[in-house]
Amino acid sequence: MTIKAFTTILISFFIACIAMAQSSLTTADSDKAVADATIPPTLVNATEDHSLVTVLGYHDFTDGSEATEMLLPIDAFRKQLQAIKDLKLKVLTLEEFIEWKTGNFKLPERSVLITIDDGWKTVYTHAYPVLKEFEFPFTLFLYKNYVDGGGKALTSEMVKEMQANGASVGSHSVSHPYPSSVKKRIKQGPEKYATFLDTEFGDSKQFLEEKFGNVVNTYAYPGGFHTPEMFDVAKNKGYTCLFTVLPGKVSKKSGDMTLPRYIILGTHDSVFESATSFPATATSTASLGAIIQTTRHPVTPAAGSTIGDRLPEISTNLSDIELLDPASLVMRVSGFGQVPATFDPESKKFSWKVNRRLRKPTCDITVSWKLLEAEKYEKPMNWTFILNRRATYLPTTAPSLPAAQPSEDANTAQ
Ligand SMILES: [Zn+2]
Repeated sequence: MTIKAFTTILISFFIACIAMAQSSLTTADSDKAVADATIPPTLVNATEDHSLVTVLGYHDFTDGSEATEMLLPIDAFRKQLQAIKDLKLKVLTLEEFIEWKTGNFKLPERSVLITIDDGWKTVYTHAYPVLKEFEFPFTLFLYKNYVDGGGKALTSEMVKEMQANGASVGSHSVSHPYPSSVKKRIKQGPEKYATFLDTEFGDSKQFLEEKFGNVVNTYAYPGGFHTPEMFDVAKNKGYTCLFTVLPGKVSKKSGDMTLPRYIILGTHDSVFESATSFPATATSTASLGAIIQTTRHPVTPAAGSTIGDRLPEISTNLSDIELLDPASLVMRVSGFGQVPATFDPESKKFSWKVNRRLRKPTCDITVSWKLLEAEKYEKPMNWTFILNRRATYLPTTAPSLPAAQPSEDANTAQ
């Protein structure tokens, strides 16, 4: 599958992006936040637009348990949409986004644009029912050659049905060219390269507009790869907003030709957390993002959950691993290192009771094991839970946090 091969090449690039995303802000945004914070609120220009938009980029979905970079389990997707709802972030239609970015439309300070690339059938079978349930609008970036491509591709009918229920359509080129094939065209000389770009930007727009009826003036660069020549072609064809795969918040001042976007990977939960974290602006304080995690086996406390007990039992049920070697099991807990967790052969539960109060706002767990007669360890299972004692210090917009309980800390003060 073309896309699979293509995306594999890009994974290392995405992972580099994640390192940037970890810091949660683009340099420009963080600089702005620092600069704005020094301006007394009364001097802030009231007409200035302080809105920030997080653009989420999805690809393919699965209802199986095994996530990959490009396959997001649908239960993780559901949790993410729930977190967006809990954070009270407005989910924009593509049209609202464009009106704001290129016109005078006003947005709330923090909002989200949901985009889904390529046109995999699982968008219709898996993601669409969940999006519909939440009544969230979304944008499909389709490439001409894959629409009605058979097999795992979306059909026109599916796209049309989704359009009737909140979907907008943008372009993702004609052929989804590899960066290497773009570079090959560049080497063929400016004329041939211009013809190539004319087709990728022009034909895809024409095809999608004729097929689906909406004006196509947005473009997601395949793999985020773009060259300066593309900007002129895109402008001439009437594109107004073009998206990359570099994480960051979109502000009114962001360049329309290279808008940032958080690519949500099935195996890197921290991207969503960064995407839903917002920096302070002149008119608002910073807010934390949502920790949305999925683990391969059941765990307690649940991944991403908030607990009040600072001496919890940490456990995982490994009964669905057939050839588990119990002697190989290792549990590591942040702040404690390796801990003397025990395995119960009856229940297949591997657990440890915390013996010293957890003091950090979050606690990270890693469990590793080998299969019987295997030489190497399996990929470790990681998860994080949140300590409720921080509730009073967290913004009230953080998801799944109970109301702040000031007495809780007073009661358990050391
Ligand atoms: Zn793509």
